[in-house]
Amino acid sequence: MKPASRLTALQPYLFATLAKRIEEKRAQGIDVIALASGDPDLPTCPLVVDAAAEALRNPKNHTYPTNRGKAAFLAAAAEFMEARFGVSLDPVEEIFPVLGGKEAVHHLGFALLSEGDYCLYTEPGYPIYESAIHLAGAMGHALPLLEGNAFLPDLDAIPSEVLARARVLYLNYPNNPTGAVATKEFFSKVVDFARRNDLIVIHDNAYSEITFDGYVAPSFLESPGAADVGVEIFSLSKGWNMTGWRIGFIAGNRGVISALKHLKPNIDAGPFGAIQDAAIAALTVGRAFPREMSRVYQERRDVIIPVLRNLGLHVNEPVASLFLWGRITADISSADLANRIFDEAGVVISPGSSFGPSGEGYVRVALTAPIERLTEAAQRLQRLTL
Ligand SMILES: *Cc1c(COP(=O)(O)O)cnc(C)c1O
Repeated sequence: MKPASRLTALQPYLFATLAKRIEEKRAQGIDVIALASGDPDLPTCPLVVDAAAEALRNPKNHTYPTNRGKAAFLAAAAEFMEARFGVSLDPVEEIFPVLGGKEAVHHLGFALLSEGDYCLYTEPGYPIYESAIHLAGAMGHALPLLEGNAFLPDLDAIPSEVLARARVLYLNYPNNPTGAVATKEFFSKVVDFARRNDLIVIHDNAYSEITFDGYVAPSFLESPGAADVGVEIFSLSKGWNMTGWRIGFIAGNRGVISALKHLKPNIDAGPFGAIQDAAIAALTVGRAFPREMSRVYQERRDVIIPVLRNLGLHVNEPVASLFLWGRITADISSADLANRIFDEAGVVISPGSSFGPSGEGYVRVALTAPIERLTEAAQRLQRLTL
């Protein structure tokens, strides 16, 4: 059977390949400690589970939902954006529910990019931007995130012939995989740049609620004029441990949201009503939960950083995200280092190169295992000499 040509050019999804290798090792009886994927290990916020259990019994939730979303969900999302970021949005015209941020990344690309368009995205980065651009039939132009520039893209370095045909810019801060954060000044610069170059900005805000040391992550929409040039993707996955539930929303530019309202009924029927009800609980009575989770991750961060430094990695303490981004100082590629750590210590970390060429020379460690497991990983890693 020959799949479509658009699939042939698509890389196998990194974590699907990795999951298979982990399974094989576990089948050999090896106790694998997986610090690779950004999938929270702890259960969903209990208030959310309670709301969902009740919502399941409501027959109104048993029919097709709508793509535009329940009025109560849209209102809860708007109130959250106002309370958390001071951003005022019209719930109907400026908010749109999605089946998670990953779906949003894809369908925004699908709705906004035409064949022959360029799409700007940052690398190292979430691999889905590139696949979304490819599946939409557009051409990607990667903006490297370098440590020397605080892992922010250099917008002035984009070649003018690319910029002339560029239509969309994907950004993501707090950033996966680097853990870097953006300042409001940077976002303001992006708004100005987008306006001058007729670009639509898609800011992926998957990690704004996981922050440490008192840092508070901004919304892109806080920058004056941001809703004129773009949208933000907000996901409940990371903050409320809801990766399995598939719920989030897109907020901002009316034209973009209107394009999605056109596209999406052709593809799916929107998030399950009971899950929208559960998300309402997260965004209202469950607002404090991401703070509790952030404390858990901060404690884990502080346990694992000294171990990585002992291994000769150069690690800055991130103030947000689920990730540590370590620069390798030894003469070894990131893939070889990750493989050695996997084979010799049974610990899974991600080679930086799997997030893009500028990720070479780094590894990513996810804080998604309990302290006991991190301590065990630390002991195994201490026996390793590079
Ligand atoms: C986890 C993640 C997402 C989205 O996750 P969903 O579960 O699909 O909401 C989006 N962007 C980045 C950068 C992520 O790491």
